[in-house]
Amino acid sequence: MRDSPRCRYISSYDGVTRCCHHVHAQAFCRWHYQALLQGEITEEGYLSDSLSDQVRRREINYFGIHPEAVLVGPGSEPLPEGHGDPDTRGRG
Ligand SMILES: [Zn+2]
Repeated sequence: MRDSPRCRYISSYDGVTRCCHHVHAQAFCRWHYQALLQGEITEEGYLSDSLSDQVRRREINYFGIHPEAVLVGPGSEPLPEGHGDPDTRGRG
């Protein structure tokens, strides 16, 4: 199945780019779902205006979108080496 739902988080970087990870709960990936529970993003999939931590804002914005721009720390999902990850991104 290639049409499994993707996380609904939309980066406020350009307002259109969506997170590339699969849905975990409430239409969000596991990582963004945690951010939702912490009130850092809205149920509509946007970054919360009330989040004032600039580092955290950037981290949320880029997760699943521009992973190379995020400082990977402990607890982050391991980056696949080569092409061991079956979840390859399609074009378009
Ligand atoms: Zn996500």
